[in-house]
Amino acid sequence: MAVDNALSSPLGPPACEKDAKALQFIEEMTRNTDSVQEDVLAKILTQNAEVEYLKRFDLDGATDRETFKSKIPMIRYEDLQPEIQRIANGDRSSILSTHPISEFLTSSGTSAGERKLMPTIKQELDRRQLLYSLLMPVMNLYVPGLDKGKGLYFLFVKSETRTPGGLFARPVLTSYYKSDHFKTRPYDPYNVYTSPNEAILCADSFQSMYTQMLCGLLERQQVLRVGAVFASGLLRAIRFLQLHWQELSDDIESGMLNQEITDPSVKDCMVKILKPDPELAEFVRMECSKENWEGIVTRIWPNTKYLDVIVTGAMAQYIPTLDYYSGGLPLACTMYASSECYFGLNLNPMCKPSEVCYTIMPNMAYFEFLPHEPAGFTHDSTPKLVDLADVELGKEYELVITTFAGLYRYRVGDILRVTGFHNSAPQFHFVRRKNVLLSIDSDKTDEAELQKAVENASQLLREFNTSVVEYTSYADTKTIPGHYVIYWELLVKDSANSPRDKVLNQCCLAMEECLNSVYRQGRVADHSIGPLEIRVVKNGTFEELMDYAISRGASINQYKVPRCVNFNPIMELLDSRVVSKHFSPALPYWTPERRR
Ligand code: AMP
Repeated sequence: MAVDNALSSPLGPPACEKDAKALQFIEEMTRNTDSVQEDVLAKILTQNAEVEYLKRFDLDGATDRETFKSKIPMIRYEDLQPEIQRIANGDRSSILSTHPISEFLTSSGTSAGERKLMPTIKQELDRRQLLYSLLMPVMNLYVPGLDKGKGLYFLFVKSETRTPGGLFARPVLTSYYKSDHFKTRPYDPYNVYTSPNEAILCADSFQSMYTQMLCGLLERQQVLRVGAVFASGLLRAIRFLQLHWQELSDDIESGMLNQEITDPSVKDCMVKILKPDPELAEFVRMECSKENWEGIVTRIWPNTKYLDVIVTGAMAQYIPTLDYYSGGLPLACTMYASSECYFGLNLNPMCKPSEVCYTIMPNMAYFEFLPHEPAGFTHDSTPKLVDLADVELGKEYELVITTFAGLYRYRVGDILRVTGFHNSAPQFHFVRRKNVLLSIDSDKTDEAELQKAVENASQLLREFNTSVVEYTSYADTKTIPGHYVIYWELLVKDSANSPRDKVLNQCCLAMEECLNSVYRQGRVADHSIGPLEIRVVKNGTFEELMDYAISRGASINQYKVPRCVNFNPIMELLDSRVVSKHFSPALPYWTPERRR
């Protein structure tokens, strides 16, 4: 479609008129960052002027930044827990938001071992939808012809529960895929998926993945992009193909759907799609039975132009594996979002993963930035938050948000570095999430949780007069799914009665039982995390570790055992001292229901 010159954008020539409008919107928002932010805050505070939380701080209906900043404190999730609990229990009064809380979004961040509950309101769906609608117009600037084929995206819904007061508690993507915004989205030639809605919405993760993979294979020539939300999800799909290509090829050959697919709506929809194709079945068998899976993505889906997966932050650990399976296809990280709020998008999505920066869209919420002090520095008691338009190039900040749904000056826990500007909107490199030690999928385990898990497991060693004298950990992502590895140095007081393999295996399980519910869900329901492993190392190994650190300049007085390691020479040292390896023999306990 020819695009009117008047609609052309500084970002590049739009692919169609719809794209032109989206790009224009991005320009408008990013040119007026500060005034849009001022306006967003005023709207949030006007909309919520009467809510209990703001009244408590005597905001008295003020909507300006100065009054807001002087009266409303910066908070963490734990500070808001009493209010959240009241809403969860059924209190419908205007506690945080004038608009009724429509549901809770369950974050992968945890508090006391359970997922955080993020309140949301109906109108937020429109805001999320708006951000989604900007992604393809940007991508179309870099990759032409995406309207000539489809996207093979592995998208899943997860279990949902109800709070005592009857509100849904579920992940933000589950909420989105189940919404009419997604289910009845208008046809957009640039955004057609091979996966039918029925497959995406199927709650059984095996049936959902199986059907999505089958559809992707059936339309292999049409597939122009392959994706999942996070890198770990796409690798799980590749692993699934490794495990199930025989059944999938049988279905393609016969045109009959595997008996294990029992979901009626999936079956109904597949009857229309699945037709016998012996030639394709033979091709899939031939490719998948090869020992070498290098470049499998482009062998099976030869027209793939890029992989659409997030590989920033904790997901960067998967880049080499993705490169291996895709033969080095470009990796596109398109957006930065959370359960609390969707933040922004990557305006140059085909850049290298190390250069990815996200432009926060000023219309999404009111954003503030807490200057991030390097370790060892303490900031004064009233740190000054900086506005979106005032952040400085090269500096690091923690993101603090105020949303339409009722979070006020809420610390997200993400550390971002300013790498540039688009118009007056800053662009951020995602540095890391605060306090995360280990992560395989969406799980986030911190130091305190790991410590508690080690303590819990070491109880089992008591009767053997054995204790854990030192430990450290490592997220091993060389296997799919990845798994936690915990290195233990033991003090065995009675070598005739030292703990046997079986006991140490049980220690692995005891650690898993103690980890947070996101970890346990990954193990039990999503199969995105493999069994936890304990590697027992020789006595004296941790002293060697200290010697090594000191030889590299660490101060002997300040040396602390790192509770997580990922530096190759250290891993090599540890692995060369391993005396035995143990794996969790069973799945830990997990249920969708919350403990509280
Ligand atoms: P959740 O609360 O489970 O929705 O997780 C949101 C968190 O995931 C964010 O606060 C980030 O820490 C992380 N995240 C989301 N998008 C990205 C991204 N594009 N790059 C790196 N980390 C991300």
